[in-house]
Amino acid sequence: KRLVAENFITEIIDRDLEEGRYPGVVTRFPPEPNGYLHIGHAKSICLNFGLAHDYGGLCTLRFDDTNPETEDPEFVESIVADVRWLGFEPAQVRFASDYFDRFYACAVQLVKDGLAYVDSVSEDEMRELRGTTTQPGRPSPYRDRSVAENLDLLERMRAGEFANGAHVLRAKIDLAHPNFKLRDPVLYRIVNAPHYRTGDAWHIYPMYDFAHPLEDFIEGVTHSLCTLEFENNRAVYDWLLEALRGKVGFPAAPRPYQYEFARFNMTYTVLSKRKLIGLVKGGHVRGWDDPRMPTLSGFRRRGVTPEAIRTFFTERIGVAKTNSRADIGLLEATIRDDLNYRAPRVMAVLDPLKVVVTNLPEGHTEPLSVPYWPHDVPKEGARTVPFGRELYIERSDFQEHPERGFRRLSPGAKVRLRHAYVIRCDEVIKDDEGAVTELRCTYEPDSFGKAPSEGVKGVIHWVAAAGAVPAEFRLYERLFSVPNPEEGEGSYVQHLTPDSLVVKRGVVEPSVRDDPADTRYQFERQGYFWRDPVDSRPDALVFNRIIGLSVTPSP
Ligand code: ATP
Ligand code: MG
Ligand code: MG
Repeated sequence: KRLVAENFITEIIDRDLEEGRYPGVVTRFPPEPNGYLHIGHAKSICLNFGLAHDYGGLCTLRFDDTNPETEDPEFVESIVADVRWLGFEPAQVRFASDYFDRFYACAVQLVKDGLAYVDSVSEDEMRELRGTTTQPGRPSPYRDRSVAENLDLLERMRAGEFANGAHVLRAKIDLAHPNFKLRDPVLYRIVNAPHYRTGDAWHIYPMYDFAHPLEDFIEGVTHSLCTLEFENNRAVYDWLLEALRGKVGFPAAPRPYQYEFARFNMTYTVLSKRKLIGLVKGGHVRGWDDPRMPTLSGFRRRGVTPEAIRTFFTERIGVAKTNSRADIGLLEATIRDDLNYRAPRVMAVLDPLKVVVTNLPEGHTEPLSVPYWPHDVPKEGARTVPFGRELYIERSDFQEHPERGFRRLSPGAKVRLRHAYVIRCDEVIKDDEGAVTELRCTYEPDSFGKAPSEGVKGVIHWVAAAGAVPAEFRLYERLFSVPNPEEGEGSYVQHLTPDSLVVKRGVVEPSVRDDPADTRYQFERQGYFWRDPVDSRPDALVFNRIIGLSVTPSP
């Protein structure tokens, strides 16, 4: 089964293979280890690994670790885990830092060929000299340094003789080019900071425009896929690879080519790493893996399956060349569809109100056999649910003075207990403050398994007190309350949903005790849940609501 639906990139690959340009397809997923992966990265993962799968090729997981000041092994580990969790196995795991010697050799080659020079103007001067859209750039006074002088300076930059910003290595391309990226882009900068993998070995680090094409070429990548913001960088990519093919150990052909696709954006969320870091550092969420976060670790902890995310990208979101914002409702619907056939139905009461069935004897319980699946899910299986004299129902399923159209329990009214009997509320017990503490009801012994009888208002879920398992329930709302939190004045933080986490304490039926810890359930009428993989313990269950049952309409 294909993992990537036909799109403009598969057309390019088909053409390239037909014309014999490459013996096979090689792709890469190139994250920078400076944060956790989010749902946007999943689009790139599904595309790159998916294409390698579909064409019998290879996909490398490559860490673009060229900024020592922002990178950390914690992020490397989380990214490896997230890619595997999504269901993809990298053909190899590589690091840009593996190639630092090779990058340096390329820089030396460019200098020798008169294609790069060490510039020593300040950052401000460089910006000034670069010109504007209407004015061509002007050469820096250092642009015509001799090859020998450039090589000497470059070597000393590498050795750590200079302060940050004292010099840079620039490509010598075209200061008048309408594409600014080609106006002598910077290739190397001085960063006197230790790198988490190479330690103090280097004092210069390659810029994206230098490192990325070389990484691709070194790994034999054929189709280098990136997001649309890099469209203008493609000219540098091509210039560099044309300058170096057939040299410093590179073949003359074939070489990689870059193609751009639309970045994934979604309503009611933010996806830039900087903003996600802001949420974590600002204490707005409990961490990178907070179930409200759009990170892959957040989705995993929440209980979303990797299959749901893959299905979302392979079947619902295409690969195209124009940016747009996907409706979060579409992702939620995909998650719901995935859980619908996966999640057995059981009963939990999140906010319990005690019911005493007065026409049953003290201590009475009765085992009912209740199917796990509704009629429209073609699966079999049942569990035992105890029924008894003492029960819990949802506090919101009772109204002492029912509002118009209330179809559940109130004094004198009847409801059916799901999978069990009809009860009638005879008496309301209150505490000194007037809060309802208990309902006294009678049940109709011959109502079991019958069609709703005359005068029954509705069907509600319940859990018998005998055997009820206490549990904490964590209910999550969308993290942001507006579709485009990044738009308008002020910070995205002001659009956070005030109570995006609501914690309830209630009970769940005893059958869950025997289930594997990663079982996903539908708690009837409440939504899909699973045990929080971090905080839930066998003697203190904590359930995350993965998603509610009904579709929240998006404006
Ligand atoms: P951010 O802006 O969130 O920091 P990034 O592009 O800097 O993202 P990288 O770690 O460099 O993050 O991304 C690794 C790969 O994932 C890149 O190829 C990038 O194009 C891709 N990617 C990142 N975000 C998205 C997105 N929203 N949609 C599609 N692909 C993405
Ligand atoms: Mg990046
Ligand atoms: Mg970034």
